[in-house]
Amino acid sequence: MTGPDVHALLDRLLPAEQRRLWVAGEWRDAEGGDTFEVVDPADGQLLARVADGSVTDAVEALDAAVAAQAGWAATPPRERGEILRSAFELIGARADDLALLMSLEMGKAVAEAKGEVSYGNEFFRWFSEEAVRIHGRWMQAPAGGSRLLTIKKPVGPCFFVTPWNFPLAMGTRKIGPAIAAGCTMVVKPAHQTPLTMLALAGLLTEAGLPDGVLNVVPTTRAKEMSEALQGDDRLRKVSFTGSTGVGRTLVRQSADQLQRVSMELGGNAPFVVFEDADVDAAVDGAMVAKMRNMGEACTAANRFLVHSSVAEEFAEKLAARMGALTVGRGQDDGVDVGPLIEEKAVETVSQLVTDAVHDGARLLTGGSVPDGPGFFYPPTVLLGVPADSAINAEEIFGPVAPITTFETEDEAVARANDTEYGLASYVYTRDLSRTIRMAERLEYGMVGINTGLISNPAAPFGGVKASGFGREGGFEGIEEYLETTYVALPV
Ligand code: NAD
Repeated sequence: MTGPDVHALLDRLLPAEQRRLWVAGEWRDAEGGDTFEVVDPADGQLLARVADGSVTDAVEALDAAVAAQAGWAATPPRERGEILRSAFELIGARADDLALLMSLEMGKAVAEAKGEVSYGNEFFRWFSEEAVRIHGRWMQAPAGGSRLLTIKKPVGPCFFVTPWNFPLAMGTRKIGPAIAAGCTMVVKPAHQTPLTMLALAGLLTEAGLPDGVLNVVPTTRAKEMSEALQGDDRLRKVSFTGSTGVGRTLVRQSADQLQRVSMELGGNAPFVVFEDADVDAAVDGAMVAKMRNMGEACTAANRFLVHSSVAEEFAEKLAARMGALTVGRGQDDGVDVGPLIEEKAVETVSQLVTDAVHDGARLLTGGSVPDGPGFFYPPTVLLGVPADSAINAEEIFGPVAPITTFETEDEAVARANDTEYGLASYVYTRDLSRTIRMAERLEYGMVGINTGLISNPAAPFGGVKASGFGREGGFEGIEEYLETTYVALPV
């Protein structure tokens, strides 16, 4: 697809009118008319200009959220749930367009983007059903006499900061439960991918969401904006998905006003294949766990720990499958693997691979940056990666599978846990007792047993250690947006 075609398509998917701030139920220019560029990662060219929100704009968005809070909290749960349900239907009806828009700004193949729309949208369906199940508790005090009542209330106005890798799903995981719980919000999408979130704001409004409940402020001034909003005592909650470094900053900033915080941060997922595993099934799982989103996922398998007796077979089969994938512009037919998000990402991935080869790893497929425009990196498999190679310690965030061997279960557990992160982990084995031991011994928020796909809106997604805290999805997801008030009732 060429430049003019892309721009005509974009005008249909998200009119220029909507490439602005969404505050208090209206599309607005940023203060001073500032804009920033969104780049097409498939060719590095300008895709769109979007209003660049200032701190003043963000405070006005918070004003709108605060003004809407009481009315929204008082709106019946069924009504809140039905708005989410309508949004779910609208998103379903526009799924193809949303996927195309997301593919343009983020790079992923359209088929994969459709998968994200469907996955992300399920959070709206799940939380539309949870809105009506918010409940407290009534009990008799152990000594008799008084009654103890607990009631649940929305936390209050929230600030959401989302990353570029899943422009829709990382938003709906926060927006869905917040709407269900009766919270209002200001959302700051990643500057690389603001378009999908702006489209989502339009759809939620069409679904009947009242003005001021959701406000979206794209910006290139994330630091100043988070400092200002978190310094404001009207903001009650921050939920962030992104890197551990920024997460730490936001947790520190939450201290002054003692805001509630949820942190979905980086990962370094081990993918452990035991000698008794079904190797073909493990390769299928590895393709999903590694190649979903070109490896640009916090749940991406980052280190393959494979028993030495099956390592060659696993590596050769994985290299054959990864090497056969088609790399190209995400909107073109037949493409499996799109570009990475930016040039810097290609440099980082490339350096990690070069260092691993220097450390003694054997390259089975991929490994060199293609000529031409765009931020492409080929699917790459490395065998015999030393355990202490940098690629095993750092989040790759690209389509590279480094394979290291082990001999015993204890060694596999020790290596798998040898990281500051604790988000997703994967285990392939046919031994039932071992699956239980592994689930208990792995220091991770999520363990996939004989599967490479663990994310599910009905399950609590989240990590431990430097991967953060708080859970998104499941019954736990809505608790992040509720406060508990205890009422003592003597009788
Ligand atoms: P990033 O932390 O640089 O950016 C994430 C978001 O934070 C963006 O919107 C960015 O503008 C914003 N940001 C940056 N500095 C800020 C500040 N001082 N105050 C407020 N906002 C600020 O990360 P990234 O490169 O966009 O995303 C990749 C990272 O996110 C990876 O480490 C990945 O593991 C992690 N991630 C985690 C999850 C999860 O659920 N745990 C999901 C997706 C991505």
